[in-house]
This record gives sequence, C-alpha cells and structure tokens, in this order.
Amino acid sequence: MEIKITTLNENTAEMGYLAEWGLSMLIEADGMKVLFDTGMGTVAVNNAQLFDIDLATIDKIVISHGHRDHTGGLRDVLMRMKKDVEVIAHPDIWASKYSRRKNREQFSGLPFRRELLENLGARFNLTREPVRITDHFLTTGEIPMLTDYEEIDTGLFDKETGEMLPDELKDDLALVIDADYGLVVILGCAHHGMINTLKHAQKLTGKELIYAAIGGTHLLNATRERLVRTAADLKDMGVQYLGVSHCTGFEASAYLAQEFGERFFLNNSGSKWTLPFEAKM
Ligand SMILES: [Zn+2]
Ligand SMILES: [Zn+2]
Repeated sequence: MEIKITTLNENTAEMGYLAEWGLSMLIEADGMKVLFDTGMGTVAVNNAQLFDIDLATIDKIVISHGHRDHTGGLRDVLMRMKKDVEVIAHPDIWASKYSRRKNREQFSGLPFRRELLENLGARFNLTREPVRITDHFLTTGEIPMLTDYEEIDTGLFDKETGEMLPDELKDDLALVIDADYGLVVILGCAHHGMINTLKHAQKLTGKELIYAAIGGTHLLNATRERLVRTAADLKDMGVQYLGVSHCTGFEASAYLAQEFGERFFLNNSGSKWTLPFEAKM
C-alpha cells in the first residue's frame, strides 16, 4: 500500500513554503484523502495552493484535538472546499481550553462557533471511539495512559466550570494506517504520550510492527528521563522510521536524531513523503 503524506502547516518550513506554529497534514492512503488537522491560521490553505492541491478533493477531515494550533485553520479550509465534509473528532474539542506558561493565561481552544463551521459545510462526527475510515485506515479514539513515565502537560487547563482545572485532553487522537509493511501512525500532538499512542495503535489493529510514527510528539518540556525511556521504548517496539514535528522541541529532536540516525527525519511545512520509503532515505 502506498501512502502519501504532505505537510501543509508546521512550525518551520522547507524552502518555498510558509510556516506558522501548528500542524496540518494531508494523508492519502487506501483510496482516501484525509486532512489531519488544519494548523493555526491560513498557512494550510496557502501551502495547499503552493503544492497545487485542490482542497475540494479531500474526502474527510480528522481533528487530533481541540487546540487552536490544530483547529484554527478549519474555517479557511472549509471556505476553500465549498462542500459538505465529515469532520471526525472527539466531543471535547469544544472544551474551554487554556494554557498557562510563565504565569500568562491564554485561551488555546477551538476559535470558532460550531454553527459557523456547520454553515460552511462541516458535518461533525463526534465520538470517543475509534472510527474506521477504510478497512486499513482508522482513528484511535481515546488513548489510554498506560506507561508510568508519560504525563499530560501540566500547563494545559480546562476552564469549563470557570475554574482552571487540569485538561485531561481526552480529545487527543491519532491516525493509524495498517499497511502491509507495518503500522503507520500519524500524530497530532500526542498529548497522551507517543508511546501510549503507539501501544494503542497496536492494540486496535492487533499488529505489532510499527513502520513509522510521524507528527507532533509533545516532548518539548520532557525530562531527560522521559526522553531516554521514550527512545528505549521506540527501539523495543521496533519503530523503523521516526519523523517528528511541531511540539517535539529542539532538545528532544536532537536527542531522537542521535538515537535513530538515518531513520530519523524532521517533518516540516512543505515536506512530502511517499511510504514505504526507498531502502536508502
Ligand atoms: Zn495541543
Ligand atoms: Zn500542538
């Protein structure tokens, strides 16, 4: 099975493309074109144009979680698509999400009203369960926290009740493609932990072999211990390729690059991959 991954928005860009803090990837697999997240603003639609991608050809949109850097581009994407489209996500994408960094409190949730997006064609399929897009292409649904060293970022909150409570980020999900050469897991922010996400993908598919994990890993504030254990688990699980983006952070990227050598890559705005990779990347 051939899989094409085109990154429309990421924090940094390849030459000729635009960048903005956020993530958006177009995944073409098993006869489906799925837009995974929409980035922060207008970068995804602009880069789509630079790639000569007609957004109207997208079959479905999947939202990894409600944070603005993954949902802020949704209005512009829908405006370009000019059609009704299924938007698969967890009901908590609408939670009142806030972040607090260096004592600065900021709204970081979905910046549009549901009605506005529905008027533009969004047909929300909100569920906590995995959704099967095709026989070999699915969303993870809620990701259980299994490892003892991966934890949810403590700078993220849910202000639904008016009080700043820790955001459990139950809406965090990933995409899984069950290819003949192994599992390909596409990560949004991996707020529940990259290893927890990969373990859940194995459980859902009943397959062990992980060919590639690509996307945001939210290791930007990770302790050294967490980095070391993450790399050890990735190796134990036999992950063959690791392509990191977005909330991975410089230190974690550098560490994982050293650990994975030629099997590591950065996935940026303007990156385009065809899987399986050629023997020598
Ligand atoms: Zn996030
Ligand atoms: Zn993010």
